[in-house]
Amino acid sequence: MGGAPVLSVDDLKGGFSNGFELKSEGSQTATVIGDKTYVISGNDGESTSTFGVRVFTKSTGEWAVPKVLGTKPNQCKGHAAVPLDEERILVVRGDSTLDDCAWFLEVDTKFIRQQRNNSDTEVVAWSKGVRGDVEKPIVISGPSGVGKGTLISKLMKEFPEMFGFSVSHTTRAPRNKEEDGVHYHFTDLSVMEKDIKDGKFLEFASVHGNLYGTSVEAVEAVADAGKICILDIDVQGARSVRSTSLEAIFIFISPPSFEELEKRLCKRGTETEEQIQKRLQNARTELEQGQSPGLFDHILINDDLETCYENLKKLLGLDGRIGAAPAPASKSLPRLVDLPMVSDHLVSKIDHRILINCATAGPNKKLVLIEASSLGGGAPGRTRGLDVYAIDYPLAKWRG
Ligand code: ADP
Ligand code: 5GP
Repeated sequence: MGGAPVLSVDDLKGGFSNGFELKSEGSQTATVIGDKTYVISGNDGESTSTFGVRVFTKSTGEWAVPKVLGTKPNQCKGHAAVPLDEERILVVRGDSTLDDCAWFLEVDTKFIRQQRNNSDTEVVAWSKGVRGDVEKPIVISGPSGVGKGTLISKLMKEFPEMFGFSVSHTTRAPRNKEEDGVHYHFTDLSVMEKDIKDGKFLEFASVHGNLYGTSVEAVEAVADAGKICILDIDVQGARSVRSTSLEAIFIFISPPSFEELEKRLCKRGTETEEQIQKRLQNARTELEQGQSPGLFDHILINDDLETCYENLKKLLGLDGRIGAAPAPASKSLPRLVDLPMVSDHLVSKIDHRILINCATAGPNKKLVLIEASSLGGGAPGRTRGLDVYAIDYPLAKWRG
């Protein structure tokens, strides 16, 4: 585990003398993980509505303002910060609902390590803790014309409350019936390249001569609607997502034969002959890569459409369900937490169980227990598998 749990701002002031001015106003915590100290501030100096982060590297004595990815948690009345492991810091927001109190600052997860390769500065990312076992996103890949879009449309039509589509960005021109913001976000190459550089994309790839990518925001929008996110992306994109901490179910759709694939592409009539040939050429590589060990969890052959659709539903555990199924349980929670935490909070941590003593005096005193032993997913966006309990005093009540 990474070093001392939580230092106070005063500890830092005494310990480091390289002239970095720690603000004493607002809420700040300093969390040590290995050689680095992450100072999380409820007031980042630019805006009063979000959190700010600064990083101190002990061995070099240098402070850095990192590139911060993901949506930041909103400003709140105090916060607590606990290093969960070497990869992330748990940040508990004061005066928030249990649904919105647990956030993670990822400092060295797979996703961060990958993003660091594209950046010459420190990189960290916010990820919101989601209670319970929220279902994993679904990545669907396969060669152009195999029927991915058709299968996804059927699924979304039958289960509109359950699934949401991750609307990708692309530099290709819209087809006849395609709507901006619905089928794709149609964008210019220069804008997309800048956004990629700014860390706004979960993954991106050059496909059939155009740039395609999934923005962090596209995935978050679906998660925020309480739906399971479906991503229609190419094999390179699937590989990139595999290497992030976004845990997903990876499904590859294969055609019954190459000839049938060609027939479908021609019949769709959305591409020129030249574009069709390019897509078919790329299909050979994609079909090969679809077999890469460990990349896809399931391979479905889309021969007869109805059979393939039934098989898709089966592997998603939806067989036997007819019509619009209810959305995954979204428990509505009372506003329980009233935590003026930064001034006087007490955090204890045993393995992945964190107990926060919210220092509200008198009969309102509360404990919050966060159980983080089975986390899944991660930045960008959401970290699943968290349990948060608010516990009223006396202690004996919840113990027994
Ligand atoms: P993708 O999204 O993978 O590029 P589409 O969903 O657009 O592919 O499907 C390509 C074409 O093939 C469409 O015209 C669609 O109606 C047709 N199609 C899809 N699945 C089947 C199938 N199982 N049998 C015959 N045609 C199909
Ligand atoms: P189309 O131009 O036919 O809509 O899509 C062409 C290919 O791009 C398809 O294989 C589709 O899965 C892929 N694609 C669409 N969106 C994305 C994306 O956001 N990222 C990646 N990597 N591929 C995408």
